[in-house]
Amino acid sequence: MVIRKGYFDFDNIPRFSCPCCGTGQLRFEKDTLISRLPAWIRKFPEYSDNFNEHGEKDVDQTDIFENYKGEVIASFFLQCDHVFCKEAVVVSGLLKNELETEYDVSDGSIWENDVKNFYPTSFCPTVQLFKIPKKTPEKVKTELIYSFSLYWISPPACGNAIRVAVERLMDEKEIPTVKTSEKGKETPLTLHQRIEKFGEDFEELSGLLLAIKWIGNDASHTSDLYQSDVVLAYEFFERCLVELYEESKIKRLKNSAHEINTEKKPISKIRKA
Ligand SMILES: [Zn+2]
Repeated sequence: MVIRKGYFDFDNIPRFSCPCCGTGQLRFEKDTLISRLPAWIRKFPEYSDNFNEHGEKDVDQTDIFENYKGEVIASFFLQCDHVFCKEAVVVSGLLKNELETEYDVSDGSIWENDVKNFYPTSFCPTVQLFKIPKKTPEKVKTELIYSFSLYWISPPACGNAIRVAVERLMDEKEIPTVKTSEKGKETPLTLHQRIEKFGEDFEELSGLLLAIKWIGNDASHTSDLYQSDVVLAYEFFERCLVELYEESKIKRLKNSAHEINTEKKPISKIRKA
């Protein structure tokens, strides 16, 4: 997973993979950052020398930022660092001035750091939060990418979308959607039942998919599902896709060795021919 929270340190932007080429990494283009104060801060004066009858100074914008409550509405571009791609991704969201506490276990000391956290609301085009194996069926991939776009703004909606991706995975694995009784009567199978059926061939993976289903179920009923729950669902999903669709390293090496031995020359020469 590229990220485990719904925000990141603006001075250490995670290395998202390029959504276009999948090879390059996205780099922050500093000169594209634009920002404006939200209305709730703009209504305060920049500086204030006014005091009320109790001797209290009117709140000004400097006070807000000095008390780590300052924020700006911001957008900026990331660009793929692959020389033949250079895809641009526009990001928008809230850049917040916050105070984070660090605890040093060795000597019990507590540090307070002034950090700038960025809370994204959108990436266009959508960035992948984990690497989807190349051979993953298109329908599963499409649902997962849709879920990545929801991750930032609504973990419950994201949880639901991941659940739909599991349904598409069951379709791809040709797990039936109905069961037929001896009398020929058809009754629909729930996702739970479909995953259990899938588990007849992939027992270990079905446990991971059932866990995703429970997270997705909860997402349908509550509005307080968190990014940390979704991150776990993604980790389960990634593991399943790697098992099902990613060629193992040893298999890949064996294939390359076989190709070289058959053609009796290096891969670069075989590809050129
Ligand atoms: Zn790229």
